Amino acid sequence: MIRLDGKETSNTIKEEIKVQVTEMKAKGERVPHLAAVLVGTDGASLTYVGSKVRSCEYVGFESSLIQMEETISEEELLTQIDALNKDERIDGYIVQLPLPKHINEEKILLAIDPKKDVDGFHPANFGRMALDLEAFTPATPYGIMQLLERYKVPTSGKHCVVVGRSHIVGRPISILMSQRGPAGDATVTVAHSRTKNLAELTKQADIVVMALGIPEFLKADMVKEGAAIIDVGITRVADKTHPKGYVIKGDVAFDEVAEKASYITPVPGGVGPMTIAMLLKNTLLARQWNQD
Ligand code: NDP
Repeated sequence: MIRLDGKETSNTIKEEIKVQVTEMKAKGERVPHLAAVLVGTDGASLTYVGSKVRSCEYVGFESSLIQMEETISEEELLTQIDALNKDERIDGYIVQLPLPKHINEEKILLAIDPKKDVDGFHPANFGRMALDLEAFTPATPYGIMQLLERYKVPTSGKHCVVVGRSHIVGRPISILMSQRGPAGDATVTVAHSRTKNLAELTKQADIVVMALGIPEFLKADMVKEGAAIIDVGITRVADKTHPKGYVIKGDVAFDEVAEKASYITPVPGGVGPMTIAMLLKNTLLARQWNQD
């Protein structure tokens, strides 16, 4: 069994980006600049944005954190988005989700200039990705593709079952893995909450991607011997024995499934760390694409 180490791989990717940024600086070029918009003070969002900003600093990017009050109006946020779209010093930016309930998330995401949409959530980017055109790929599926490619997990002609059909994970990864190319050429089945006999499907799969958010849902008797297992799930489960009062669990019962798997991502330390690395990669791409 080979553990797909997202922590190590993401560090390698960050080092690769750092080298490119150093080269840009040596040539006197402007370094990539990522901005993050955070509305409110949600603890998890603050943690995510904080680590995105720190990662920018680590690789030598410029970064800006725009913090806005929980009570701001949709109009005020749209004005901020418009300013970011027009600001030539900003190569790419993200709007940290979720947004407060009184703000229409879809309206905000649609207002982001697709050329600066490094999260890859704008329909223009999603459509381009689905058509195999140059696009910002959403960071989590992009990270999974990198893990599969860098560990040379066989995907061509393999049957992949993706459990979950969300717009940010399940749907895009199912598209990417069915496309031609590295980590692609798989025959993909997408499963969701209405799928019948899910275990019969996962048992046939050479690759299982779990993205549903139910801790330890995938058990050993649901997978075949030698399958590759990608666990996207991140759920906080209360645990009084832990100093934080919770532990992070994936969608896979890791210990029992690992005994049958050929490759498996741990949680934490698998897909999670890849997400930030791919956001940085998209920002570097934004800098390169937008200067032409
Ligand atoms: P969503 O809640 O948007 O989607 C969950 C999907 O799982 C839905 O398509 C749902 O089906 C399906 N589902 C729910 N229950 C079942 C079931 N019993 N059997 C089969 N399918 C089911 O989640 P996300 O895609 O946003 O996230 C999934 C997990 O990944 C979460 O734990 C999240 O925290 C984590 N995540 C991790 C990231 C990372 O960086 N590693 C990034 C993003 C997410 P239906 O469509 O029918 O409702």
